Amino acid sequence: MQSLETSPSSEYILVVDDTPHNLHLLITMLTRRGYRSHGINDSLMAISAIQNEKPDLVLLDINMPNINGFEVCQQLKAGEVTCEIPIIFISARDEVIDKVEAFRVGGVDYITKPFQIAEVVARIENQLTLRRLRRQMQEQNENLKQEIRSRIIAETLLQEANEKLERLVNLDGLTQLANRRCFDAYIDQEWQRLAREQSPLSLIMCDIDFFKNYNDTYGHIAGDDCLRKVSFLIKQSIRRPADLAARYGGEEFVLVLPNTDTSGAIAIAETIKKGLLELALPHEDSSISEYVTLSMGVTSMIPKIDSLPSILLTAADYALYRAKELGRNQIYLIG
Ligand code: GH3
Ligand code: MG
Ligand code: MG
Repeated sequence: MQSLETSPSSEYILVVDDTPHNLHLLITMLTRRGYRSHGINDSLMAISAIQNEKPDLVLLDINMPNINGFEVCQQLKAGEVTCEIPIIFISARDEVIDKVEAFRVGGVDYITKPFQIAEVVARIENQLTLRRLRRQMQEQNENLKQEIRSRIIAETLLQEANEKLERLVNLDGLTQLANRRCFDAYIDQEWQRLAREQSPLSLIMCDIDFFKNYNDTYGHIAGDDCLRKVSFLIKQSIRRPADLAARYGGEEFVLVLPNTDTSGAIAIAETIKKGLLELALPHEDSSISEYVTLSMGVTSMIPKIDSLPSILLTAADYALYRAKELGRNQIYLIG
């Protein structure tokens, strides 16, 4: 924090008075007290001097040729750069109306002539202290605003990082489908919700046929690419916000279909099968087709509150096993 005890000499005071005697007296007094000061006996010259070097305070006479002190003050208050300079009027006019006018045009204080040196100094010091305080407050305000801006930026970045982390934690890196962890949590949640609702929950387990052969024929990188294409197709087949497609592991995928009965689940499985046929990904080392195919196990049940979703998974797994056993590239239902 900036000290309020700024040495007087660092502040510049301009005295404007057309009476040479007053000017001399005031400048001598201010110099003796250590202030940097300058005297001007013409109001127009004063205005142009102020534009060149902005004083920290102006002691301003009222009665002057050319334009009077009130007008000088008004002009300074109208200027963007000069409007904040404190102006103390120093005048022989002692009428209340003059004092009121002095404050109306923007003066901060009023000293009557003949003046007492001690009073002039006290009033100058008072105004300079106020000015220092005001500046300090502005500076602190600016710092606070800057800190708030920095914090808002930091919070936004943190939130973005958290969202990214959340996505990473729940996503499978290769296929961009939900990962196993996400699937496990989701099926638990939906099992309980649908047990309360007494509405069906369906599951489709998919497994690429002869995928080991695919890797052996086309290489692991092509295998990864095939997994991505099949994943994309699977993701495209679901439409409801509550449906979830996940990579269960390796070349196995699982679809969670809440509030969906057997016929709805079969329809989605058929869509995937048809889509894969249209995709026609060559698989020359498959014993059942010249293209990549999927075996699918479909199951559906209304969850019971006192049972676990593992019974649904076991059933879907068994249905998939049956689809494989019956010759692959087909859908097997345990309803
Ligand atoms: P099935 O028709 O009985 O399902 O035969 P399969 O060959 O598909 O099944 P198997 O379980 O014998 O082989 C699965 C293969 O999937 C073996 C493994 O290397 C491959 N695989 C698993 N994960 C990935 C992966 O992330 N990328 C690639 N490229 N291959 C994978
Ligand atoms: Mg397989
Ligand atoms: Mg498998």
